[in-house]
Amino acid sequence: MRIDILTVLPELLAGPLDHSIVGRARKAGLVEVNVIPLRNYTHDRWRTVDDYAYGPDAGMVLKPEPIFEAVEALQAEGAYDEVIYTSPDGELLTQPLTNALSLKGRLLILCGHYKGVDHRVREHLVTREVSIGDYVLSGGELAAAVMVDAITRLIPGAIGDETSALTDSFQDGLLAPPAYTRPANFRGWGVPEVLVSGNFPVIAQWQHEQALERTKRLRPELYKRYERGECDT
Ligand code: SAH
Repeated sequence: MRIDILTVLPELLAGPLDHSIVGRARKAGLVEVNVIPLRNYTHDRWRTVDDYAYGPDAGMVLKPEPIFEAVEALQAEGAYDEVIYTSPDGELLTQPLTNALSLKGRLLILCGHYKGVDHRVREHLVTREVSIGDYVLSGGELAAAVMVDAITRLIPGAIGDETSALTDSFQDGLLAPPAYTRPANFRGWGVPEVLVSGNFPVIAQWQHEQALERTKRLRPELYKRYERGECDT
C-alpha cells in the first residue's frame, strides 16, 4: 500500500510517521508513506502556496494551481484510489471507514491550512473528505497522521500479534474489554479471578460480557446499533 501526503508543513509529520507501528511497518515495506511538500510545485521565488480569501473575512486560502499541479504530476506515476481532503466538515473517520481505506492500494491525503483550500480543489480533484472529529485543527497534518496510524495497524503483519487488531474497540461494534497484566496483586488490588483461571472459553465469555456492559454504559448509541445488528465493519 502507498499513502502520499501533500502538505505545506512536512516538518509536522516527521515524528508521528517514524516510530512505533507506523515506523516499523514502513521499514518492513508493508506501507510506503511519502510526505510531499506542496511548495515543490510552485514557480515563483517565494514559493507561494496561499493567497487572500475573496470576501470580507480575513484569512488565507491555499491556491488551486500548486495543488492541481502536484496531484496531476503524482497521478501520472499511478492513479489514486482516493484523493482525500482532511476537513472538519468531512465524513467522520470511524473504524468501518478506516477498514475500507486499509484495503486500498494507493491513497493521497491533502492537508489544508489557514482557512482551507480553494473550493475548486474540493469540487474537481478530491474524491473523499474526512474529518477526525468535531473540532478545528490548525492544519490537516495531524489528521493525516491519525489516518495513517489507524490504517497501518490494520495491514497484515503491521502488528506483531495479528489477532490483536481484531479485538480492538469498534472492530466488532463493541468497545474493548478491560486489559490487565502482572502482577496479579498490585497495592492490594487484584485482577479479576477469571483471568488467572487459565480457562480460555470462560475468559472469552467474560471478556464479551465486559465489552457488552462497557459499551451499553459508555456508548449507548453504539450499543443500540450493535443490538440491531447494524455493525458494518
Ligand atoms: N475554515 C475551516 C477550517 C480550517 S482549519 C472550516 O471552518 O471548516 C485548517 C485546516 O485544518 C483544514 O483545511 C483541514 O485540512 C484541517 N482540519 C481542521 N480541523 C480538522 C478536522 N477536525 N479533521 C480533519 N482536518 C481538519
